[in-house]
Amino acid sequence: MQELLVSMSRLYRSPSGTVLPVPVDIDPAGFELEEELGRVVGEIRLVRGDGDVLAIGALSTVHAAPCRLCLDPLEVPLEIAIEGRFLTPDKPEFNHESDLYDPDIFPLIDRAEIDLTELTRQSIITVANPDLDCGGACDRYESVLASYNSGPGEDEVDPRLASLQEMKAQLLQSGEPAPQKEDE
Ligand SMILES: [Zn+2]
Repeated sequence: MQELLVSMSRLYRSPSGTVLPVPVDIDPAGFELEEELGRVVGEIRLVRGDGDVLAIGALSTVHAAPCRLCLDPLEVPLEIAIEGRFLTPDKPEFNHESDLYDPDIFPLIDRAEIDLTELTRQSIITVANPDLDCGGACDRYESVLASYNSGPGEDEVDPRLASLQEMKAQLLQSGEPAPQKEDE
């Protein structure tokens, strides 16, 4: 897996409040993310705190995938908020037994580099909904949704095949092939 490592030795020696802007432009394929995601771009600002480093940022990308119901291609823009706190691993915040235990922090492994990979990955996964839905923009939406919601006990038909089933029904009724729609 690719890593988002940032040199921060200078920031580490700086007084608290110092900010290091980090431009981000990553290919999600290298980060074990949905392959339908476009490049993730934006900026993460590293803020030197009192004994910790805060990472705050805004990234954006485009999720291009078929609608889960009708398979129409969709492109959904995604805004990804980045917010993480980094501490050296000796801190009680990492200790499950401690009152200060915090499951949402990330380790500062050394003073030269900060690893933003996991924070960035998790933040992207949180906003990337794998089931894109056109929400009714397609003409087949209602019928596909109806068969999708028909519930257990009825014939299990893949809702994406519902339009094929409709065509088959028409074909049986008319005795003629269903008219071909918009071939080109
Ligand atoms: Zn749809």
